[in-house]
Amino acid sequence: QAKLGGRNRSCFFTARMNEEAETRLKIEGELRRAVGTDQLFLNYQPLVEVRTGRVLGMEALLRWKNPELGNMPPDRFISQAETSGLIVPIGRMVLQSACRAARGWVDAGHAHIRVCVNVSPRQFQDAAFLEDVRAALSASGLPATNLELEITEGLLLAERAEVDSVLNTLESMGVQLSIDDFGTGYSSLSYLERYPFDTLKIDRSFMIGMLERHERKVLVETIVAMANGLGLKVIAEGVETSEQLAHLDAINCDIAQGYLFSRPVPEAEAVHLLARNFLL
Ligand code: C2E
Ligand code: MG
Ligand code: MG
Ligand code: MG
Repeated sequence: QAKLGGRNRSCFFTARMNEEAETRLKIEGELRRAVGTDQLFLNYQPLVEVRTGRVLGMEALLRWKNPELGNMPPDRFISQAETSGLIVPIGRMVLQSACRAARGWVDAGHAHIRVCVNVSPRQFQDAAFLEDVRAALSASGLPATNLELEITEGLLLAERAEVDSVLNTLESMGVQLSIDDFGTGYSSLSYLERYPFDTLKIDRSFMIGMLERHERKVLVETIVAMANGLGLKVIAEGVETSEQLAHLDAINCDIAQGYLFSRPVPEAEAVHLLARNFLL
């Protein structure tokens, strides 16, 4: 078998690998230059109370518009920002900008609105992370209870004592904590009792075919029941149809997020969504 492809085949793979490495380098270089410019900015997507349609919060989602590379989706650059360490200054800017926007919403009369900010493992483990959170809160004047940090299960595999201490400090500051993309990572249910989470976000992959596939339906119902039993709020991501929403309501899932209500929108439009108050 190995002989079959011969020389040409290995050349082919080498060329392709080079091309991929080059693209990665290109992305990293451009990203490095983009930090601190308006190429990087946030969109916001509402989190909605299932029973009433009321907007409870907004998730800040990073966008990158590069003159050469075009609109780069986060799935194509966040992991690289993570490995290169660029996520640290980028994440700092995300925190600053999300807290400033949310302070504006609070001032406009939406005192209960929460802003949810994604934090990647590398950023969370940076020595200055807690300082970055404190600085973003104090610069914006946003109450800590209006900030929710979303972390993924991957972080919980890291050095236990460090993670414990940072999570506990955040909790004591009044910052809300949620587990993002629940059910896709290296799930260990024990961390649900070990760590001070307020909210569990069911990964959006569970919504696809949820109503048609018995197993998936059972998994979602079970996750919701478990979260409710533990006193955690539960958010379903990726809700696209009113049938999905009706089902989520029937199984007592509190909060939903998805294209059914709104795509992620620029800050100026987020204000209008908030002013409507109810999105159903
Ligand atoms: P996530 O935190 O799980 O965010 C939800 C993703 O699902 C967003 O993708 C959102 O646009 C998408 N989404 C929401 N509702 C629907 C729906 O109904 N249908 C479909 N098909 N998709 C929906 P997005 O904005 O492309 O972000 C992808 C991921 O990139 C995020 O997943 C998050 O892990 C990461 N990310 C985004 N912004 C940041 C950031 O500021 N910092 C860090 N560390 N990661 C970020
Ligand atoms: Mg998220
Ligand atoms: Mg998520
Ligand atoms: Mg997700």
